[in-house]
Amino acid sequence: MLLPLPQNMSLPGLGLLLAFTAPVAAMDADRFAERLDRAARLNVSAPWPESQRILDELRVHLDLASHDQRVTYLMLESRNQAMDGQLEASLDTVETLLQLELEPHQRLIAHARAANVGYIARRFETTFRHLNAGMALLADDSLERHAVNLYSVAAYIYALAEEPEDAVIFGRKALAIAQRFGLAREQCAARQRLGFVFKRQRDSTAAAEQYRAAIDECAATGDELLIGTLDYAYGDLLRSIGRHREAEPRLERAIEKMQVHGYREGLSLARLYRARLALARDEADLAERMFRDALVDLTAAGNDEYVAEAHRGLAELALDQERFGDAVDHLRSSMNAREAYLQEVRDRRTAFLQVEFSVAEKERELARLREQQRIAELERQSLAQQSLIRIGLVVGTLLLLLLLLILWVRAVRDRRRFRRLAHRDALTALSNHTRFFELAETTRQLAMAKKRNYTFVLGDIDHFKQVNDRYGHLTGDAVLRKVGAALREQFGDKGIIGRVGGEEFGLALPGPDLATLLTGLEAVRARLRTIRVGEQPIPITMSFGVARPRDGESLTALRERADRRLYAAKQAGRDRVVAEGEG
Ligand code: GH3
Ligand code: MG
Ligand code: MG
Repeated sequence: MLLPLPQNMSLPGLGLLLAFTAPVAAMDADRFAERLDRAARLNVSAPWPESQRILDELRVHLDLASHDQRVTYLMLESRNQAMDGQLEASLDTVETLLQLELEPHQRLIAHARAANVGYIARRFETTFRHLNAGMALLADDSLERHAVNLYSVAAYIYALAEEPEDAVIFGRKALAIAQRFGLAREQCAARQRLGFVFKRQRDSTAAAEQYRAAIDECAATGDELLIGTLDYAYGDLLRSIGRHREAEPRLERAIEKMQVHGYREGLSLARLYRARLALARDEADLAERMFRDALVDLTAAGNDEYVAEAHRGLAELALDQERFGDAVDHLRSSMNAREAYLQEVRDRRTAFLQVEFSVAEKERELARLREQQRIAELERQSLAQQSLIRIGLVVGTLLLLLLLLILWVRAVRDRRRFRRLAHRDALTALSNHTRFFELAETTRQLAMAKKRNYTFVLGDIDHFKQVNDRYGHLTGDAVLRKVGAALREQFGDKGIIGRVGGEEFGLALPGPDLATLLTGLEAVRARLRTIRVGEQPIPITMSFGVARPRDGESLTALRERADRRLYAAKQAGRDRVVAEGEG
């Protein structure tokens, strides 16, 4: 995050001094001073466009500005540009500033600013150059009070350059100075940096300690932006240690504050952190939206580490929703960003070392040896990354194949289900007419081939019309279902049962001898006499015709004989089984 502008840069009271010089010009110079002072105050208390509006208005009158006012002007403008994400412009502004004759403390502050913006712009060489130039000024003890920002930035940058011990030293130093001189905003900012350093080292306890201490300190400054940056930093830490419920309001508030203040880098971080939380809590829609929103600015700023993370998150979400094509795309973007990030880490280390070499001649050889090892390690990681990309592509392809397989299995299953439906009688769930005769024929052929018993039976409910007439059609349906159930219970595991007409049923039974079959039919008939629908007993009787195939007899002939015997049973007074005789 961007550091606050120190109070002493706003130079209040300067306008008063100028008022004693040329009276006519004094009106303008007076007003210039007053407006600039207001811009400086707005710069820390309001969204940056408010102060920038005043700076834009003053730009044409810069010839009225004193040297110090010009310094103030450029410092304010560089901060606004950085807030708006115009990082190169911001760096140019600081470079312009450094061309001026500056007091040592002004120079120190400008270097801190340049290092800060340089890092956000990923200009590592610039970053370390300014950091080093600032450090060189600190030989002068009287500048200590102004060194807090430089130390604070140094803590941050050393943490990112993987120099954690130095980072902690710088961070503690910044905090100590801020405390000693009672610089409230700097103290809040220093704590946040220190918190970040610990978080980066995965020391959540130490990080939480700093963030917690910062809560009151930052609140006391009334600087909404600083409070917002604390909110997202602490919110993300809380998320990382599983305290999701406490993390949420902080992250929400941070997003709101970043939006109000138009701080783009802060906003994209707050959204990314919010997305992490949403992902951890399976809030897929929210996570998706936050990752996407964050990605716009993260990509624009070239923040590859987080771009990689956001794409990976989106890939995960797409996978969950079986959007395999999207998943593969995000996976690929994530790998690319990750690759770019590793390159950036190498650049960062190299830039850091270049600076270190120039100030620590003695350690140079040692450092280089160490660094060669590290760069080799990073290179190995990069190679591993490349093979990961390849694996990613293979995995993506496999996922697509898997998707096709899932779709195919589903289609086959559906087709089976439809076929089953087409074969079933909806009322009784027995085989319907067509299916029954198909299966009866297959079974018959099999039984004949294996020289097994085979029996074909047709049954018809007696006086079923009367059931409908007396109890209604719906009750008639219920009776049909119960007849179906009775037949299934008795013969379901022995052969094929079908509903072959309105109240007519067929049985095709390979296996049992006639006596067994007749016993079975008696059991069914006994059961039919006890049928109830609801409370109402509806005893019914049924007539059956039974036939067994003679040599070479077709199913049609067999069926006709069974039908004739069924007719005979009806003729003989119903409620019986006819299994022999002509017909
Ligand atoms: P029988 O066979 O003993 O000679 O007399 P029946 O009254 O059973 O014979 P018929 O064939 O004249 O009548 C069959 C009746 O079955 C006619 C029809 O209303 C009824 N029926 C046919 N299908 C259904 C159905 O799906 N639901 C209901 N509730 N009734 C049906
Ligand atoms: Mg009937
Ligand atoms: Mg009938």
